Amino acid sequence: MHVLVTGAAGFLGSHLIDRLVREGHTVLGVDNLSTGTRENLAHLANEPRFHFLEWDICCPLPADFATGRLNYVFNFASPASPPEYLRLAIETLSVGAVGTQNMLEIAARHEAGILHASTSECYGDPLEHPQSEEYWGNVNPVGPRSVYDEAKRYAEALVMAYHRTRGVNTHLARIFNTYGPRLQPSDGRVVSNFMMQALRGEPLTIYGDGNQTRSFCYVDDLIEGILRLARSGVHLPVNIGNPNEFTILECAQAVLEVTGSKSELCFEPLPEDDPIRRRPDITRARKLLGWEPQVQLKEGLARSLDFFRSKLSAAS
Ligand code: UDP
Repeated sequence: MHVLVTGAAGFLGSHLIDRLVREGHTVLGVDNLSTGTRENLAHLANEPRFHFLEWDICCPLPADFATGRLNYVFNFASPASPPEYLRLAIETLSVGAVGTQNMLEIAARHEAGILHASTSECYGDPLEHPQSEEYWGNVNPVGPRSVYDEAKRYAEALVMAYHRTRGVNTHLARIFNTYGPRLQPSDGRVVSNFMMQALRGEPLTIYGDGNQTRSFCYVDDLIEGILRLARSGVHLPVNIGNPNEFTILECAQAVLEVTGSKSELCFEPLPEDDPIRRRPDITRARKLLGWEPQVQLKEGLARSLDFFRSKLSAAS
């Protein structure tokens, strides 16, 4: 198959491409490198089945790109960590709206399938727990996180409209917190912050009292869920995440155990509109895709250790 992946140089995009190339597909990767890095794709430099274009998908793709038939589009382009989408607020709104529509047009033109990377942030600070796909969410439309949440919610509406009115074969993955190698050490997410702080012997920065929860999915599990959804006939959103829920304090403890670090904890203010709890109900993914995560938090952190260690030596 000929596959287009946007957000190719990002954490998830690059892992997805590795898996697609391994399966024998030809992959066209697009990224404007606003948050992704060439380093995430460096190992594919001599891979004949992979081609890269540095491009902002808010602009229509160049005419000579993907001239042949495309079979599938994975739309993963977007800043995704809270500090990055706050820094790139308008770009985040644009890529969710204009960029996503450009990709839907390409899918329609090529009669290709398309999977859009949506997010648990569609549920905002959820009033229902755990979150099933039927829950409509509790999003502040004008808060700082709204640039991400509303872009992703608008993108979901756009995807469903292309499915309903143009008959495009669309898929929507609501992705929950994911971690693993290539999670950018500097992008401010909890797992990358804690791993780097623990390895450096610095205090782990707990925002708020640390009793807020997240449910962490290891990247290999996530990619498996994404591919199963892409190959399914399911057009409504599907939660892809690990339902094992941890407080941020428990996450810090797990990082300390896995790294063997003696770092202390320090407490900092909770960012505005930071969701208090988050846990996917994955009944739909289990039933319709036969999927559930296999790797639990400490094992996944252990598998990520070498990557964060390598970043440590690169920085020092
Ligand atoms: N967090 C923290 N310390 C950090 C980074 C994040 O306590 O150094 C908290 C953050 O306030 C949130 C949770 O960890 O409650 C997950 O944050 P992240 O930025 O990874 O993603 P989110 O799930 O909020 O999109």
